[in-house]
Amino acid sequence: MVDLELERRFFGPRLESAIEEVFQHTQYIKGPEVTRFAEELGQYLGGVHVIPCANGTDALQLALMVLDLQPGDEVIVPAFTYVATAEVAALLRLTVRWVDVSLESFNLLPEALEQVWTPRVKAIVPVHLFGQVAPMGEVLNFAHSKGIAVIEDTAQALGADYIAYDGQTYKAGTMGDIGCTSFFPSKNLGCYGDGGAIFTRKAEVAARLARVANHGQDSLYEFSEVGVNSRLDSIQAAILRLKLPYLDEFNARRRAAAAVYDAYFSDISALQVPVRVPWSTHIYHQYTLRVLDGRRDALKAYLAEKGVPSMVYYPKPLHLQPAYFRPEYPSGSFPNAERLAREVLSLPMHPFLGEDQLAFIGEAVRSFFR
Ligand SMILES: *Cc1c(COP(=O)(O)O)cnc(C)c1O
Repeated sequence: MVDLELERRFFGPRLESAIEEVFQHTQYIKGPEVTRFAEELGQYLGGVHVIPCANGTDALQLALMVLDLQPGDEVIVPAFTYVATAEVAALLRLTVRWVDVSLESFNLLPEALEQVWTPRVKAIVPVHLFGQVAPMGEVLNFAHSKGIAVIEDTAQALGADYIAYDGQTYKAGTMGDIGCTSFFPSKNLGCYGDGGAIFTRKAEVAARLARVANHGQDSLYEFSEVGVNSRLDSIQAAILRLKLPYLDEFNARRRAAAAVYDAYFSDISALQVPVRVPWSTHIYHQYTLRVLDGRRDALKAYLAEKGVPSMVYYPKPLHLQPAYFRPEYPSGSFPNAERLAREVLSLPMHPFLGEDQLAFIGEAVRSFFR
């Protein structure tokens, strides 16, 4: 699905040099690379505070921790997303309020928000799924009208732009109260291990997040609140500093690959190619088709036989997962999420897909429908 070997060859010996610099100073934890990467990412995102942490799941957990919610408070989460988004709420003894998603953008349906609202809802976590920004204008209006916090899950959309009605653009993850991302190796900006980061425009929130990520420590061995240990290590930060300047170029390469895929599939009536929404750029963390004729699994098996990998992100909506199931949300509660779980199929997508590979995959899919 991604080709990290080709990526390693693209960066070549610069990777070894970046890591070698860390060996020179031996500050494997809290080395200068971590601070510099946080500054550089903050600049890239248009001037926000960046707090690096151990992974994207921790980023989401830390964001919820500083909201000072009470057990039983509720958080709105889309029913069709990666499990981490809901897991951290559950771990903090919060109640998840699911919201259905759009069959076109795969992101949460803003018109459904009012129906899932209760007075106990204290936060909403829009997920920018597959590389496109959720309808943030409507999400922010809803959140402001209710006085609740907005935590953006930007793990799949780092570098995507939200385009406001006046044409102004904002980087995904910088519009809500707190933005969260992951540097898992397959993400659009990935390191070579685990990593994550949290963003905020507010200096006092940034200071609090940094403290909670560091055991709640104020000054050496003074702890003012309960925290966790969540750090990005220096070697991963060195790799991310090398890769960050290429993020826009890599995202553009993904867009070019997506356009090639589109050309192969647009005339196949059983396929819906990714729908581009007008309010966001698309950075194709995934190139996700909908297979409308009920043959998704057959197509996947056929592709596997031809040597083409494909993945179903995600095969079961979260409200139907045993860990998250509640009788108030039986099967049928979120019809779009449930339908997408049966229809979606993601094809290989990364910045190093060659023309020959795209043609091979495109033809393989076409031959199934012939
Ligand atoms: C990858 C991902 C996460 C979690 O990131 P990790 O670094 O793996 O913990 C959270 N949310 C979404 C939408 C993701 O894709």
